[in-house]
Amino acid sequence: MNSVRDNVDPAEVAKFDALASRWWDPDGEFGPLHEINPLRLDWIRRHAQLSGSKVVDIGCGGGILAESMAAAGATVTGIDMAEAPLAVARLHQHESDIEVDYRHMTAEELVATEAGSFDVVTCLEMLEHVPDPARTVESCTQLVKPGGHIFFATINRNPKSFAFAIVGAEYVLKLLPAGTHDYEKFIRPSELGAWARHAGLVHKDSIGMQYNPFTKDYSLGESLDVNYLMYFRRD
Ligand code: SAH
Repeated sequence: MNSVRDNVDPAEVAKFDALASRWWDPDGEFGPLHEINPLRLDWIRRHAQLSGSKVVDIGCGGGILAESMAAAGATVTGIDMAEAPLAVARLHQHESDIEVDYRHMTAEELVATEAGSFDVVTCLEMLEHVPDPARTVESCTQLVKPGGHIFFATINRNPKSFAFAIVGAEYVLKLLPAGTHDYEKFIRPSELGAWARHAGLVHKDSIGMQYNPFTKDYSLGESLDVNYLMYFRRD
């Protein structure tokens, strides 16, 4: 895989295109992203200053995280390979009066013009949807300035994550549409850590995100068994 458009799975992009109009409905298919956003935004802000920083959000979708980082004072670029979510994102920023520069491109394409120019790179809930996530990690690393901050979020791969993230979330509780996630594409923290190290990143912190089906609440916690975030800095 060498072309800057190779690291894209058209079937994955089509899934997000089909649901795009629902992106900002807190009770819709992307409800869980709305619920976790304050938690992940807080965690990012614990580690990196957003105000005055140049940030790129890779796989921004309809812009839930991108807008919230812009509201926190960052200059935000959001890139995604699905056109419909980007169109929704561009409309929504007018409603919320927040400015984000949305672009239809891959991380690999952005590297060609803006390598080493971002203080912060975020790539959340996206790696498990691409053919070659290690390459995405490498591209994200090339986008950040030396000393800059990179955040990834994805889903672990083990029997518990299968039970919670696929059976529980998609079939029992119906928090996400069936078929949203593919178990084989889930990523162990050790795998993400190795790709990041190989790309030249230094691991700084990790945290888990849990859903409690009884209280219907998400929270941050120690366990990386299912959903988790990892924070790195470029050497
Ligand atoms: N990061 C956002 C959206 C997650 S949904 C959030 O957490 O709120 C995953 C997004 O990744 C979708 O919008 C999908 O279109 C996008 N995506 C999938 N493959 C991609 C690729 N190769 N390059 C850029 N974006 C991609």
